[in-house]
Amino acid sequence: MSGGPPSASRSGSVATRAKTPHATPVPATSSHARTGARVERFERFERGTRSYTMSHIRGKDTSIEVLVRRYLFARGMRFRKNDRRYPGHPDVVLPKWRAIVFVNGCFWHMHEGCAKCVIPKSHVDFWTAKLTRNRNRDRRQIAELEDAGWRVFVVWECELDKPGRQGTLASLHARIVGGWVPSR
Ligand SMILES: [Zn+2]
Repeated sequence: MSGGPPSASRSGSVATRAKTPHATPVPATSSHARTGARVERFERFERGTRSYTMSHIRGKDTSIEVLVRRYLFARGMRFRKNDRRYPGHPDVVLPKWRAIVFVNGCFWHMHEGCAKCVIPKSHVDFWTAKLTRNRNRDRRQIAELEDAGWRVFVVWECELDKPGRQGTLASLHARIVGGWVPSR
């Protein structure tokens, strides 16, 4: 569940346990009968896109979120996960540091200029509208949090790819800690 762009070349049926409260169905080319209402609903999601859905749902532990949490924890930081009291249900909330971290999948959160954010060739209008909505919502939520006095950090999926991962994590930690006097 790395959250990359949907690929039409995936073959076979992609096993998915992903659930989303706001899945917008798109026309499906085929529909297999499956058991369970959730799966049934998901079958209508465009083939090839389903397996990526996990990465844009806050509250699910996708691997990239876990990477970031594990690193911060190892550095002695304590945090809350997916706190529903805040806009966007941030992946990591560090009250002591007055800091919030979002770990964003590049596709779902529309990382501009990123190779992992490519609008699928089919249903272009649908995807453009959906991803633009996601991005605008992200911006709005970050602004709300900053207005409330939080320092908001965004880590992108592509920055957590192997070559740059350690640097990204170290830099995140440094930025959270740097220039900030913890509350206690
Ligand atoms: Zn990216």
